[in-house]
Amino acid sequence: MPIDPTQPYDDDNIFAKILRGEIPSNKVYDDEWAYAFEDINAQAQVHVLVIPKGRYVSWDDFSAKAGPEEIAGFVRAVGKVARDLGLVEPGYRMMANIGAHGGQEVPHLHVHIFGGEPLGPMIA
Ligand code: C5P
Repeated sequence: MPIDPTQPYDDDNIFAKILRGEIPSNKVYDDEWAYAFEDINAQAQVHVLVIPKGRYVSWDDFSAKAGPEEIAGFVRAVGKVARDLGLVEPGYRMMANIGAHGGQEVPHLHVHIFGGEPLGPMIA
């Protein structure tokens, strides 16, 4: 069920629970600003989610409210995860779903990283 990205942050969402270690996840990366783990329903050979440590519902919420250090830390983490996974050559795809039309299902910002194989054209 797609979420409303303007809703207040819900501390009981599944990714908040993953960040608190209450639900297991296959960790790929962890630093001060971001945590990355394998998507449980991989849509490509490599499918990883990178989430900020802060309480942000969506990219909209994050880009409007996060501080410069936090934004830089998160963006750098996304790039580092892809580099560490060896995806830069031959390339990868990153994307974030936002709200109902974007098909966002979990109300904690997450950037998808897809790679490990040639990817098809972008799906509308
Ligand atoms: O962008 P969207 O909100 O649709 O993506 C949510 C993603 O979170 C899905 O790809 C789903 O497989 C993943 N997920 C996960 N672990 C969970 C719950 C959802 O990897 N426990």
